[in-house]
Amino acid sequence: MVATPIGNLEDLSTRAIHTLQAVDLIAAEDTRHSRPLLRHFGIKTALIALHEHNERELMPRLLGQLQDGRSIALISDAGTPLISDPGFPLVRECHRQGVRVSPVPGPSAAICALSAAGLPSDRFLFEGFLPRTHAARCERLQRLKQEPCTLVFYESNHRVAESLQDMRSVLGAERPALMARELTKLHETLISAPLAELLQQVEADPMQRKGEIVLLVAGAKPEADAGQAAETLRILEILLEALPVKQAATLTARITGQKKNRLYQEALALRNRPVG
Ligand code: SAM
Repeated sequence: MVATPIGNLEDLSTRAIHTLQAVDLIAAEDTRHSRPLLRHFGIKTALIALHEHNERELMPRLLGQLQDGRSIALISDAGTPLISDPGFPLVRECHRQGVRVSPVPGPSAAICALSAAGLPSDRFLFEGFLPRTHAARCERLQRLKQEPCTLVFYESNHRVAESLQDMRSVLGAERPALMARELTKLHETLISAPLAELLQQVEADPMQRKGEIVLLVAGAKPEADAGQAAETLRILEILLEALPVKQAATLTARITGQKKNRLYQEALALRNRPVG
């Protein structure tokens, strides 16, 4: 399992280069994508495509070669294989069949972003990509809402604004967050701001909706606050049964002393919550 750069070619380790030169075969997610990288480092090892569409079909052949004592390096288009990338069935089967698997570590966008985010990193939850539709995304976020550890998401630039809107509604406008864009590349940008502010910046500047993106969101606040938050939510839900969103939020703010704007966003998210 050989990690490759997530943008900056200088991040390919010396051990990765030696491994890619020494193996009998390199299984790459997209051979067209990996060829320039291999050419850059003068690596002439034979290449085969291994992606999610042919993975299961190709597996017996690769396992046969491994059982015969040949060595295969697995690489993805960028970063660490299997991290939101193909390879899991093959690696699982290698373990089942007693084939030795060895990682050659290197960049991964999630860890790279986390290391520079200034958010708690002693515990974090890697969530990969959120669902594409608004309803499914809100449902997933709702389940993550009380998680105390830092949340790490991969996000497509086409959906980043919509995802941030949903995060703001479900997780709260004031949750600290960070958007890491184009890591290790020329236009690398890190924006650290509460969710509502981050969304504003992303909506205001089309450049912030380009390239590759990792989103990180601080975890939920500790127990005491969580208890208070649950009580606030309970009041808001009851009032929403009888009142329009704005009035329910205003009254909840008066009862709990919480900020009206945030409650209004939360009430909107509750009202739009998918049924079932
Ligand atoms: N296996 C890769 C890894 O270890 O990071 C991730 C592969 S996943 C298919 C691709 C996603 O990773 C992108 O959509 C983006 O969210 C994130 N990503 C990859 N490279 C990045 C970069 N240079 N800057 C920010 N995010 C990046």
